[in-house]
Amino acid sequence: MKKTTKGTIPGLSKNALTVLEKRYLKRDKEGKVLETPVDMFRRVAESIAVANARFDQKADLAALADKFYAMMTAFEFLPNSPTLMNAGRELGQLSACFVLPVGDSMEEIFEAVKYTALIHKSGGGTGFSFSRLRPANDVVMSTTGISSGPLSFMRVFDVATETIKQGGTRRGANMGILRVDHPDIMDFIMCKADQRQLNNFNISVGITEAFMKAVDADTDYNIVNPRSGEKAGILNARKVFNRIVKQAWENGEPGIIFLDRLNKDNPTPHIGEIESTNPCGEQPLLPYESCNLGSINLGKMVQNGEVNWERLKEVIQLAVNFLDNVIEVNNYPLEQIDTMTRSNRKIGLGVMGWADMLILLGIPYNSMKAIELGEKVMKFINDEGHAASVELAKTRGTFPNFKGSVFDAPGKGPIRNATVTTIAPTGTISIIANASSGVEPLFAVSFVRQVMDKNILLEVNPIFEEIAKAQGFYSEELMKKIAEHGTVHDIPEIPEAVRNIFVTAHDITPEVHIAMQAAFQKYTDNAVSKTVNFPNSATFEDVEKVYRLAYESNCKGVTIYRDGSRDEQVLSTGKKE
Ligand code: UDP
Repeated sequence: MKKTTKGTIPGLSKNALTVLEKRYLKRDKEGKVLETPVDMFRRVAESIAVANARFDQKADLAALADKFYAMMTAFEFLPNSPTLMNAGRELGQLSACFVLPVGDSMEEIFEAVKYTALIHKSGGGTGFSFSRLRPANDVVMSTTGISSGPLSFMRVFDVATETIKQGGTRRGANMGILRVDHPDIMDFIMCKADQRQLNNFNISVGITEAFMKAVDADTDYNIVNPRSGEKAGILNARKVFNRIVKQAWENGEPGIIFLDRLNKDNPTPHIGEIESTNPCGEQPLLPYESCNLGSINLGKMVQNGEVNWERLKEVIQLAVNFLDNVIEVNNYPLEQIDTMTRSNRKIGLGVMGWADMLILLGIPYNSMKAIELGEKVMKFINDEGHAASVELAKTRGTFPNFKGSVFDAPGKGPIRNATVTTIAPTGTISIIANASSGVEPLFAVSFVRQVMDKNILLEVNPIFEEIAKAQGFYSEELMKKIAEHGTVHDIPEIPEAVRNIFVTAHDITPEVHIAMQAAFQKYTDNAVSKTVNFPNSATFEDVEKVYRLAYESNCKGVTIYRDGSRDEQVLSTGKKE
C-alpha cells in the first residue's frame, strides 16, 4: 500500500477537510482513510497530466502535474467533484453532468433507469426529457391497455435514485423536463406540490418561443401527442404560465428552460437536438452526452486590490488543458456516452468566488459596476478559453463532429471543444476552496449550512472575519448576532463602508439577481446556474416579473427560491422569524 504523504495545504479550511474526509479521500474496506488531501490533489494532478503524452511524446508530464497541483492547492481552480473523487482510481468516472434519452417504450424507459443507476453510482447527475412519452390514458397497442404517462415513470427514476444513494459516493441528482406542449403538462407543473414527492428531481418546464408569444398575446396554443404527432387539444398560454409561476411561488418549482434558445446555441445541430440539461440546469447536452466542469476561483485572482488578468489568463489556459485531458482519461459508464462525449468534447469552464472578488475590490454586488465587471471578467474567460481550445486543436485536432458544426463556417475555425464555458453551482467545490459559490452573492455573512447527511457547519465568511479582525471589531458574539440577523445592514457595530460591500442574497433585489445572471450568460457557451432568492413576503407578481425578465434578458432558464417555502432547505441564516 502506498504510504500517505505528509505535508499540509495552507488555506485548507476545517470545513474543507471535513468534506474531503467524508467523501473524497480514498478509504480501505473498513472505511479507514488512506490518503491525505495532499495525496488526493497529487493523484488528480498526475492522472490528468498523463493525457498530454498522447499528443506530445516529449511532454514534460512531471512539470505539468506540478502546475495542475499548484493551481488546485492554491484553490485557484478546482474540477467538479467526480474528478476529485475518482481520477486515478479504479472507477475513473470524472464527469458531473449527463443527459439520457427516454424513449416511448418499456424497453427504452427501463434501459434509461439502468443507465441512470450506473451514472449515479459514479457520482454523476442525470437530466432527462420525458416529452417523448405518450400521455397518461393514451393507447398501448401491445396490451390494448392504457398508458400511465411520464409522471408515473418519473417516480420509477426517483425510487431508483433513492435506493442507489444509500451506497453511492454522493446524492444522485436528476433533472426532469417536460415540454410545455405535452398533454400532461398541467400535472407535471403540479407534480412536486406535495413536498414528499420526487425529491430526487429538479423539474423544469421546457418553454418554446411559440408559447412565450402566446403568453404575450394572451392566446391559446396547441398541445401535441408525442406518439402520433397530432394535435391533442388546446390550452390557454397565460393560464399555464400563471400556474407555473404560482407553483414556483409556492415552493420554488418548476423552473423554466427556454428550449429554442438552447437549440439556437447548439454547436452541433447536425448531431441532434438539445432536449434537456443536467440537474442544476447549467449544462445543456445532447442525449448520451456528458460534460466535465471546472471552476476558477475569482477571489484568488485579486492582487493588491486589482484583478490579476495575467494570472487569470494562465489559469484559463491550464484549466482548458486540464478539462480536455479529463475527456481523454475519463472512464465512461456506457459505450454510447463514451462515443458521444469524445465526439463533441464539451467542457464547462466557469467560476466560483465571484462575490469574494467583488468584496476584495470593494464593489457592492448590487451595483452597475459589478454587472459591468461581471461581463468583462466572463468575456475574458470566454475569449481566452476559446483561444486555448483553438490552440489545443493545432496539436490534438478538432472535436470529431466539427464538420457540419457551427464552427465549420467562414470566419470560424478549428477548435478542440464544442463548448468551453459553463457556470456551475460549485456547491461542494466552493466549500473545498473556501470560496463563495458560483456567481451567487454571499448567502449570508455568517450562517448555518447543512451538508450531505445533515452535518451542521457554522460558517463565518473568511474575508469578513479577516477584515473584522484587522479593523478591530471582531467578536464571537458579533458573529452570532450576524447569523441571527441574516444581514449586516442594520448592525451599527460594523463600519458603514464594510456593511456596504457585504451585501447578501436577501439584500439584493430579484432584478439584480437576473441582471447578474444575464451578464454572465452573455459570455457563456452553455448556461449559468443561478438562484433568484426572494424573501418569504414576495408576491406572485414578483415571481412573474422575474420569469418574464429572465426571458427578456436572454437567460437560458431561471430558478427561484422564496425563503421558507420548503420544509427543508440547504442553507439557512439562522434568523429567528
Ligand atoms: N451533481 C450531482 N449531485 C450532487 C451535486 C451535483 O449529480 O449532489 C451534479 C449535477 O449535474 C450538477 C453538477 O454536478 O449540475 C455540478 O454541481 P456542483 O457545481 O454543485 O458540483 P461540485 O463539483 O461542487 O460538487
